[in-house]
Amino acid sequence: MPRFASRMSSLGVEGAFIVLAKARELEREGKHIVHLEIGEPGYNPPKHVIEATKKAIEDGMTKYTPSAGIYELREAIAERVSETRGIEIKPENVVVTTGAKLAIFGALMSFIDPGDEVIIPMPAYPTYESVTKFIGGVVRPVVLKEERGFSPSIDDIMKEVSSRTKAIVINTPSNPTGAVYGRRDLEEIVKLARERDILVISDEIYEDIIFDGRKHESILSIPGAEEVSIMISGFSKTWAMTGYRLGYAVGKKEFVDKIAQVQLNTSSCPAHFAQVAAIHAIRGPQEEVYEMIRDYERKRDAIYDEISRIKGFSMLKPAGTFYAFPNIRGTGLSSEELADRLLREAGVALLSGTAFGDAGEGYLRISFAGPMEDIREGMRRIREFISSL
Ligand code: PMP
Repeated sequence: MPRFASRMSSLGVEGAFIVLAKARELEREGKHIVHLEIGEPGYNPPKHVIEATKKAIEDGMTKYTPSAGIYELREAIAERVSETRGIEIKPENVVVTTGAKLAIFGALMSFIDPGDEVIIPMPAYPTYESVTKFIGGVVRPVVLKEERGFSPSIDDIMKEVSSRTKAIVINTPSNPTGAVYGRRDLEEIVKLARERDILVISDEIYEDIIFDGRKHESILSIPGAEEVSIMISGFSKTWAMTGYRLGYAVGKKEFVDKIAQVQLNTSSCPAHFAQVAAIHAIRGPQEEVYEMIRDYERKRDAIYDEISRIKGFSMLKPAGTFYAFPNIRGTGLSSEELADRLLREAGVALLSGTAFGDAGEGYLRISFAGPMEDIREGMRRIREFISSL
């Protein structure tokens, strides 16, 4: 058999997809599984977006587009980002990508040479570490502490800075912790990045899924950030359009042009009709989006109450995203053992905190993106399992 490239040994996998596969196997054996592992909205995209998608296909929007995306969508994104960040963004500062994931890949590919160091506050979305290592970069993790609400400490970040530091990847609202960074956190990171010529990749894909009337703080709202930052967001969460595979990166024209070049060499461009539908997502009525966010907040409140009733569990209330990240140290079990036993013995699929790096030991990640009945049933099963230990 032909030998695999050695770089494949550093390419990671995503815990959610592995657990989903295991859960499906158990389901084939006839077990009933409650799915709380996948970070996918349990809603459909807004109705007018679906209508626009059908019409776009019928109208022949089924061809290649420029690698950076169609101009009208870049324009719509530029307007939305300008409005929400209070700055002026032009279409030339936007690249539309095949999912936010390809924007992350493109940003790291464009800047990281073998041996370059990337600072990643962790636990974190596993793609950042996986892609960094794949292209030969070195990950410098900064452990996020529960006592600080899982917000990064600038002192801890500074300790990891060296002459090889090339980038820092941040994520707010944050998967898996549900933390939302404050403006001060971002100001300190931008100051450091400007002083040391470090690129800030800010993944803001959960920007709209934020609770208690809080406002999302974006890297792009910090004066001077545009010189050193790439902001990434997309359509998977706000408009529940995961399968459309549409994300975007915003930054200096030179930065986004490079990401478009990476895209040209991988997917060429995102699907044409998906891009047309995305214009309607941005420019159309937002009521369904607001209702979805209110619904996530109700689910967040429900899961928070449920978790506080489970012995050995404790949890900070997530300020954003659709993830609960309970501390499970009181159970005496490791995260992986508990996640595995909950799947096999209680029929609840969720993720070990360690799916987001070693810093996730002592935690579980539970998605509350699905139906309320599943959340209630899942929590009931976890509670019963824990009291049977
Ligand atoms: N960033 C984070 C933090 C995510 O949680 C996800 C999806 N789970 C993505 C990026 C990727 O989103 P997309 O579907 O746009 O590729």
